[in-house]
Amino acid sequence: MSAFDDLVADGWALTDVQLGSLTTYKLGGPARFYVELRTREDLPTLANALADDRQPVLVVGRGSNLVISDQGWPGVAIRFGYAFKEIGIGPEPECPITAGAATTLPRLARETVSQGRGGLEFYVGIPGSVGGAIRMNAGGHGSETADWLLSAEVFDLSDGKFHTVRKADLGFKYRSSSLGPTDLVVSATFRSEPIDVESGQETLRQITRWRRQNQPGGTLNAGSVFRNPEGDAAGRIIDEIGLKGYQVGGARVSAKHANFFEADPDATAQDVYDLVHEVRDLVLEKTGISLIPEVQFAGPFA
Ligand SMILES: Cc1cc2nc3c(=O)[nH]c(=O)nc-3n(C[C@H](O)[C@H](O)[C@H](O)COP(=O)(O)OP(=O)(O)OC[C@H]3O[C@@H](n4cnc5c(N)ncnc54)[C@H](O)[C@@H]3O)c2cc1C
Repeated sequence: MSAFDDLVADGWALTDVQLGSLTTYKLGGPARFYVELRTREDLPTLANALADDRQPVLVVGRGSNLVISDQGWPGVAIRFGYAFKEIGIGPEPECPITAGAATTLPRLARETVSQGRGGLEFYVGIPGSVGGAIRMNAGGHGSETADWLLSAEVFDLSDGKFHTVRKADLGFKYRSSSLGPTDLVVSATFRSEPIDVESGQETLRQITRWRRQNQPGGTLNAGSVFRNPEGDAAGRIIDEIGLKGYQVGGARVSAKHANFFEADPDATAQDVYDLVHEVRDLVLEKTGISLIPEVQFAGPFA
């Protein structure tokens, strides 16, 4: 028996858990092993198991940037549980804001604004978690995670230790960081600026309204599929070559925003993968622009 089989036998890990329902696309198959972290002490247990039984690791946040293969994930999928949703907002305006990895970004935006702390309002329209936002350097409305993050607490599954990593050491670039597959963001510390609560709430309303008007809400998607090329917008380019509505199987380019690809409930993850690659190839052929996917594919795809 492997270390993970033992953890399954103990009820600490699960097997064959469907991952699709943990993502916004709702697509994809099961994880071979699945661990929901309940406390910080679970992290060293996980590292010890991986030292004995080297399974490929996938951290699943809110799954809002993830497409899981129809065949599932061939290793261990990890999710941060309830204990990692805490937000700490100190009483003085200069106190940093702390948030656990599983904290949802809209909640962080709303709670900080309600305490007169500005900066994180842009998170109100991004349906991810703090851990996913740091990995992806999530951003929008003129701000990105790297602008406000001070440091992240990272548990490295390869050395079994917690590290405090300063923003400068996270290798942030547009929609990416230098975090590796064995680096798990456990919590984060952000700076903020004092704001008037009412004007902060008005900013939240404006962002929410803008999203409703410009993005295909209520559909299965994972936000922007491609990173924007320097000085341009992937959605504008895809629209210009007439690909709004372009369909592969049960996946199609949104008619509302051409950088959002929507899935029918009976679509497969492979349909989404094929659509992303067909659109990328058509854009390259017609414009010479090489679009880079922002959305993350996990597990085997044809
Ligand atoms: C409707 C919609 C609108 C969106 N708008 C935006 C937007 O404006 N701007 C933007 O940047 N993004 C946007 N996104 C994409 C997405 O919400 C962000 O990329 C978000 O940061 C992903 O967070 P998540 O928790 O969902 O991560 P997931 O999708 O679960 O995972 C994304 C990546 O982060 C890793 N990860 C997750 N948690 C951790 C952790 N604790 N430690 C280490 N790695 C981790 C995963 O392994 C994976 O590699 C949008 C998505 C949707 C569906």
